Amino acid sequence: MLAAVFHAPNNIIVKQVPITRRQVMLKVSACAVCGYDARVFRNGHRKVRPPVILGHELCGEIQNDIIVGGDGGGMTMNAGSRVAVCPLIPCLHCHYCKIGDYNLCINLKEIGSSSDGGFAQYVTIPEQVIRIGGLVPVPDNLTDEEAALLEPLACCLNSFSRMLPVAKESSIVIIGDGPMGLIHLQLFKRLSHSRVAIVGKIPLRMEKARAMDADAVFAYSRETVAEVLDFTGDSCGAGVVVIATSNPVAFELATKVSARNSKINAFAGMPSGQTFLLDANWMHYNQISITGTFSSTPKLLGEATRIAAEKTIDLSAIVSHKFSLAEIEKAIDVTEKYHGLRAVINKF
Ligand SMILES: [Zn+2]
Ligand SMILES: [Zn+2]
Repeated sequence: MLAAVFHAPNNIIVKQVPITRRQVMLKVSACAVCGYDARVFRNGHRKVRPPVILGHELCGEIQNDIIVGGDGGGMTMNAGSRVAVCPLIPCLHCHYCKIGDYNLCINLKEIGSSSDGGFAQYVTIPEQVIRIGGLVPVPDNLTDEEAALLEPLACCLNSFSRMLPVAKESSIVIIGDGPMGLIHLQLFKRLSHSRVAIVGKIPLRMEKARAMDADAVFAYSRETVAEVLDFTGDSCGAGVVVIATSNPVAFELATKVSARNSKINAFAGMPSGQTFLLDANWMHYNQISITGTFSSTPKLLGEATRIAAEKTIDLSAIVSHKFSLAEIEKAIDVTEKYHGLRAVINKF
């Protein structure tokens, strides 16, 4: 089969590789390029041992009949079914696996990182993924490209659900105008009907945020703190701040625009070793909650599929470019240059 194999930083080769035939294979229909893929391509990553095929936001067609969710609630999926994939490969033995927090597994492996992923014509699905119900059927009213974005939507749902309940009067501030920031924007506008401001940097993306009904869009500058506080009015700050950018300045900004009793979520990963200083009394007297969220679970992927199929969340607005597998480097290039939102590989 044809695959884009990551060999070393700045070295990805599209070539024929043998297919490892195991129990469950998917014919890939679409695989989106995440910022993570672009960073691995440039700098490598501690989780990635090349040669490996990257790509963890994918949708594909099952090649053989299978039973999914083996632990009791098994259901049959027929060959030809289109599915979204939860890329987690958990150990199934640790404390976190036992309570269903597979994203927190202490021995976690992931499709598209430590195991071959979706930038190829076919992908083998490890048994653990089947066992945890990690293949989710995709309804016909979602395109392949939208289905590839169900995984990032599930990650944003993980973040959104940890911020609940959102008080009616509170304002939401999302720092970051990338695909993840804009999916958060849609979640807070459409599920909790909140007033939402986006703090961004890229004019084209800020324009998209306005088109997705952001109540305010601010370009990051020295005035941002004052502008955001003004936006939040007499609540004197945001009730929820989501950090959806890996730019470390976002953390300080978050602490300056958050209201009393607010929640701050560190959704995005930061450069490794990044630390922050916090005033303990600021947290104490203002009752601030700071949390982090990472990845998602099969349950959240199912929930993401439901709200995308209902068109509560519009994933088509997040897809800005489509490329063939042979154009993988172009897709990575538009991703790291912020030329759009998500680039999706959809021709293999
Ligand atoms: Zn991703
Ligand atoms: Zn585990």
